[in-house]
Amino acid sequence: MSEQKRYTGSCLCGGLRYEIRGEIGDIVQCHCQRCRKANGSAFATNAPIRKADFHIVQGEHLLKKFQSSETTQRCFCSDCGSPIISIKTDTPDLYRLRIDTLDTPLQQKPTQHIFVASKAEWDSICDGLPQYNERP
Ligand SMILES: [Zn+2]
Ligand SMILES: [Zn+2]
Repeated sequence: MSEQKRYTGSCLCGGLRYEIRGEIGDIVQCHCQRCRKANGSAFATNAPIRKADFHIVQGEHLLKKFQSSETTQRCFCSDCGSPIISIKTDTPDLYRLRIDTLDTPLQQKPTQHIFVASKAEWDSICDGLPQYNERP
């Protein structure tokens, strides 16, 4: 039996803590306007995780959901505003983790840029990763 991966993470205020008992999928840099607004930055760094692997171990009452489009809910800490996960109706078994809330060091690197057609006009992508105008 292979060893189960385990990651921990938390929001900025520390009120909300979670564990992932499983794998973290391919990391993407999302430049869509909704991610930019939600994070106040040039892009969001997200990775899929299995819903069944995600466990809130503290502060579940702090997790607030915002319906940012017909198909997407964004979940964030209602005390400090840290974005934690998003949930899309077309992939109900997955959450998209905002990986910068992890406290466990991550060995994986980003794999691609998505929604670059809507990236900020002042932003320059300087790495050699594949770029997609929308979600590939
Ligand atoms: Zn918080
Ligand atoms: Zn996005």
